[in-house]
Amino acid sequence: MAHTVILETVKKRNPNEPEFIQAAQEVIESLIPVLDRNPELVKLKILERTLEPERLISFRVTWLDDKGDVQINRGYRVQMNSAIGPYKGGLRFHPSVTPSILKFLAYEQIFKNALTGIPMGGGKGGSDFDPKGKSENEIMKFCQAFMGELARHIDHRTDVPAGDIGVGGREIGYLFGAYKKIKNEFTGVLTGKGIEWGGSLIRSEATGYGLIYFAENMFQNVGNTIRGKTCLVSGSGNVAQYAIEKINQMGGKAITASDSSGFIYDEGGITGDKLEFLKDLKNNRRGRIKEYADQFKSATYHAGDANADHNEMWTIKADCAFPCATQNEINDKDANHLVKGGVLLLGEGANMPTTIEGINVIMDNGVMYAPGKASNAGGVATSGLEMMQNYMGQNWTSEDVDSKLQGIMKNIHDNCLAAAKEYGKPGNYMVGANIAGFLKVANAMKAQGIV
Ligand code: NDP
Repeated sequence: MAHTVILETVKKRNPNEPEFIQAAQEVIESLIPVLDRNPELVKLKILERTLEPERLISFRVTWLDDKGDVQINRGYRVQMNSAIGPYKGGLRFHPSVTPSILKFLAYEQIFKNALTGIPMGGGKGGSDFDPKGKSENEIMKFCQAFMGELARHIDHRTDVPAGDIGVGGREIGYLFGAYKKIKNEFTGVLTGKGIEWGGSLIRSEATGYGLIYFAENMFQNVGNTIRGKTCLVSGSGNVAQYAIEKINQMGGKAITASDSSGFIYDEGGITGDKLEFLKDLKNNRRGRIKEYADQFKSATYHAGDANADHNEMWTIKADCAFPCATQNEINDKDANHLVKGGVLLLGEGANMPTTIEGINVIMDNGVMYAPGKASNAGGVATSGLEMMQNYMGQNWTSEDVDSKLQGIMKNIHDNCLAAAKEYGKPGNYMVGANIAGFLKVANAMKAQGIV
């Protein structure tokens, strides 16, 4: 059995990388029917080759804090696969960042990017730097020090990073400024830029909006709609905010949001002024989610950690669950609570927010499941649209970009379903996403020879 050997080899070669092994296992197991049907891919060891980064860069980032003390962080860039285009994937600044986390993210990114239909390879990077509690000056100094090394390894035709957890518009600005100063060139080397300096309209909204477009496609496929549905959303950052906004626009009701300290439950819905308050709290004042419940009587606050064994948020009765914070937020116990609460659809805004056991519970109970590499691909797809605008020297309107985003999410949805059906797993979006993404990359690797 080729796939068991491949998985055992991954485990042996990456012994201290549980997140990477988890992401690899999901893909390897989904691809069993593809390997059975395509012996030449097995002979060429295409799957094994995708599991080894083309390049993993690790570097020291040294900077001076406001007190004049020397600070040392680790920076990384994982250039995972460039078979179909330049490496593309975000930068994460969070104390939990390790090579395992970045390799899992870069691995998922290969297939996600392939699914978008835009020529982009897979990459990811970041640092164990914690932006929380840092001054504006410290954030800028760190970004400049980080780019001091990263600039040697990226270019608008080679590797184009974007944001992720802890890296938003502010950080992209400082990183871009540092790159421009070092290279003396103005190119689209990063995406998620400000509108006045090469950014794309709808890029900020794209991941959250795309997630809800994808969910609506899934509902429509079974003759249903998100209109009138109550939704649990975790996180309160970029993805969560715009997922909530789109749920509201499409007639659903988002009743929760969270951060790394706890969650709020607002039975009346996070709408209008309340959503604007949440955006201001998280994007400008950089406060804690608890302040939402202090401000609005309709909400209650519940302290707790998203990655704890039991997360009370997932026990609330709702029609949809959209985890939009971080990896492994939903385990099998949480999944059982969601099933008991009558959830119809789980759509991943975050990357790998559901454990393998959690996914099994969800799918075994007939809940529709949208894997992140398909349902959160709207962000990187719109980054791809930003790259195209940069290459062409154009600025497209919001309507243009939004309608392209909707078209891309519909295509991804349809391609996942078609691949799942062709390989004997009708309706299984996880298998469909892995197969459709893999085949595109595999065919390119086959054509390009043993490199
Ligand atoms: P942000 O930094 O904007 O927001 C992250 C949110 O998740 C915050 O509310 C944060 O809480 C919470 N969070 C982060 N880490 C943890 C943790 N360990 N435990 C509990 N809560 C946590 O990030 P994004 O919204 O950009 O990213 C969220 C997820 O979506 C990630 O998995 C990311 O990889 C994925 N994603 C993002 C894309 C994008 O375009 N931005 C594209 C595709 C996927 P706190 O405020 O306390 O830090």
